[in-house]
Amino acid sequence: MHNDIVIIGGGIIGMLSAHELSAAGARVTIVDQDGWGQESSWAGGGILSPLYPWRYSQAVNDLARWSQHHYPPLCAALHANTGIDAQWSPCGLLVLDQDDKDAAQQWAADYPMPLELIPPGGDPRFRCERASMNQSTLWFPSIAHVRNPRLLQALHQDLEASDVTFHLRRQVHSFEIADDRVTAAITTAGPVTGDRFLICTGAWTGGLAKTLALDLPITPVKGQMILFDAAPDVVPCMVLSKAHYLIPRRDGKILVGSTLEHASFDKTITSNARQELHDFALSLYPALAQYPIIQHWAGLRPGTPEGIPIIDRHPRLKNTYINAGHFRNGVVLAPASSRLMCNMILDQPLLLDPTPYKIQ
Ligand SMILES: Cc1cc2nc3c(=O)[nH]c(=O)nc-3n(C[C@H](O)[C@H](O)[C@H](O)COP(=O)(O)OP(=O)(O)OC[C@H]3O[C@@H](n4cnc5c(N)ncnc54)[C@H](O)[C@@H]3O)c2cc1C
Repeated sequence: MHNDIVIIGGGIIGMLSAHELSAAGARVTIVDQDGWGQESSWAGGGILSPLYPWRYSQAVNDLARWSQHHYPPLCAALHANTGIDAQWSPCGLLVLDQDDKDAAQQWAADYPMPLELIPPGGDPRFRCERASMNQSTLWFPSIAHVRNPRLLQALHQDLEASDVTFHLRRQVHSFEIADDRVTAAITTAGPVTGDRFLICTGAWTGGLAKTLALDLPITPVKGQMILFDAAPDVVPCMVLSKAHYLIPRRDGKILVGSTLEHASFDKTITSNARQELHDFALSLYPALAQYPIIQHWAGLRPGTPEGIPIIDRHPRLKNTYINAGHFRNGVVLAPASSRLMCNMILDQPLLLDPTPYKIQ
């Protein structure tokens, strides 16, 4: 089969890029060393905002803003096409940290993003331990989350229905190059040929890019999460404090995350992290003590220095592109990042100024 575009990596970035390219009429193949959507995109929490967005650059906020508007119609279309509901849930985000209230208020006014300052003493709406709200807190009522494993399932089903081909459990270890073009991705099961190649290999991108003589600052950053099997409404909204957070799913399950560990490609889970996340959750919602923890896992974020992804063409190979390095925000940034990448590959007008995302 002739491939217009071969995408390496079937996480949210690879699959949403495929979604964009296939919708524009391209014949797309995805190659993954594992199954589709088994890595960081599955492991993440699905919060549709950077944590403390005022601490990020405009480059990250521009991608987030476009994606936040795009998520409701994307989830609705995938639901209609596949019957799978990614559960886009605008339940709001409560931020308990005191340090940067002024910066947060300025950012919310400029962005713009609805923000309410909750006075000291708390508010029964949040059902949060009173002591944790004894100073004023920040309430962003419109921030949403998605159930990322379901989003991935819906995307996969939609892509299969659109004749996107998946070559799974095939690791790409090198490329065949002629002049200034890649002609094939060489996998553990043989070559996959195509006109253009798009690398969306998340935390593994640094290693693969080296085979194309590129030195990219993308390294794995481990994050551990736990899951409580609670009743709906024990935790009514997302809550963020000291870089840890709770995310309530619609059925009552509560995700608690996350650690930030530089441990190469090791995904081992630890009892220390489980205890840390458990204690954090109970300090805000003591009622969680009566519910069991039913899962504990780790994922590898594609870490980049300021969390700014690389969305660019290879500087010498004219038909090879990279969309990777979304660090802690790959779920929220994915729609804009994939649309911009699709614009570049298909020579369409660009969604955003691509300068901040260029290979340095
Ligand atoms: C604990 C945790 C919590 C998070 N929470 C959030 C959140 O709330 N909101 C948010 O926006 N983001 C969050 N993130 C970040 C987000 O999950 C990532 O930024 C995003 O998933 C990256 O997507 P990706 O497609 O680039 O990478 P991945 O999902 O890791 O996909 C890369 C794919 O490439 C494949 N691959 C790699 N190398 C090769 C090769 N050589 N050949 C073939 N295939 C290959 C892999 O098998 C994998 O399927 C979180 C991440 C973690 C770990």
